[in-house]
Amino acid sequence: MKIAVLPGDGIGPEIVAQAVKVMKALSSDGLKLEMEEAPIGGAGYDAAGDPLPASTLELAKAADAVLLGAVGGPRYDVLDRPLRPERGLLRIRKEMNLFANLRPAFLYPELASASTLRPEVVAGLDIMIVRELTGDVYFGQPRGIETRPSPNGGSERVGFNTMLYAESEVRRVAHVAFGIAMKRGKKLCSVEKANVLECSELWKEVVLEVAKDYPEVELSHMYVDNAAMQLVRNPRQFDVIVTGNIFGDILSDEASMLTGSIGMLASASLDQNNKGMYEPIHGSAPDIAGKDIANPLATILSVAMMLRYTLNQEAAAQRIENAVKKVLAQGLRTADIFTEGTQKVSCSQMGDAVVKQL
Ligand code: NAD
Repeated sequence: MKIAVLPGDGIGPEIVAQAVKVMKALSSDGLKLEMEEAPIGGAGYDAAGDPLPASTLELAKAADAVLLGAVGGPRYDVLDRPLRPERGLLRIRKEMNLFANLRPAFLYPELASASTLRPEVVAGLDIMIVRELTGDVYFGQPRGIETRPSPNGGSERVGFNTMLYAESEVRRVAHVAFGIAMKRGKKLCSVEKANVLECSELWKEVVLEVAKDYPEVELSHMYVDNAAMQLVRNPRQFDVIVTGNIFGDILSDEASMLTGSIGMLASASLDQNNKGMYEPIHGSAPDIAGKDIANPLATILSVAMMLRYTLNQEAAAQRIENAVKKVLAQGLRTADIFTEGTQKVSCSQMGDAVVKQL
């Protein structure tokens, strides 16, 4: 199984190095993982004048799965927009047609006190948000800013975007979400705003159609404003949530913070054939880059997701997740999740500890 490894910028190379250690440990244990590295983001710009060099895209497309660190940094903020690191990330997602974004929000019992919600509200939290990633108001046409006649006479500028979903786009992401619900608690909540938006009305209709293929999954529907409220009121009511691009953007960030630490959360972006790109949800953290203090667990857990969703190696995925649980139970913590009474370790020490538990 060929893995394209794209470390990127900032803490990217440090955290990815720990994930590579984990993959090497699994490889020496019988799993055949071949890794090849390529630059992306600012590193791509430095190497080839392009945040997504052609050779990097080629490697990613030819691989079975892609592991990405993070991109971006203040050094690159002065570049023209098409050359900025973040543009490389958007392009690779589009080029690989990664339309389904999976963002788990899972709370490790040892980290319950890191949440801003009371431990009894978040204890046992285990949600998977499936966000559609390539459609909706972020891509719909027409869009723009133009001058139009003002209701009070004269003229003024208006900004406009188009919320748009084709049935086929809703259907394919709904299938992904139902499939994941089947592998988990068999509960799916579809989130939209069908009381106001025609686009959401169609979304709901299509989800109901797809539901017929998955009679074992208990489907519910929720308006997005209520879902935002329920996520902080009683988050444990959710198993899998499926929603559009903009609602998912907001709700997945809200859900991830229920767990308290951005350094713990992995994500996946999948195409039609479950081929995917896996990455931590956080950015390149320029403020701590090069200090060997970043938390590598989100990246290591991204490898577990890769093994589960693209490479169909459930046992190996669980081995990684269990190893992470054990290092947390041992009291090992990087600086971002450190509390009194636990033992502070560096990024590379955390990687070594996970490998040892494997
Ligand atoms: P960030 O996620 O990089 O950092 C936010 C805060 O969380 C910082 O204080 C950082 O030190 C901390 N943090 C993040 N990851 C951590 C980890 N693994 N361990 C410990 N602490 C961690 O977000 P930001 O500061 O808004 O953005 C920094 C850069 O990253 C920008 O250039 C931005 O465009 C880019 N970015 C990239 C991605 C991506 O590659 N997917 C996502 C978001 C932001």
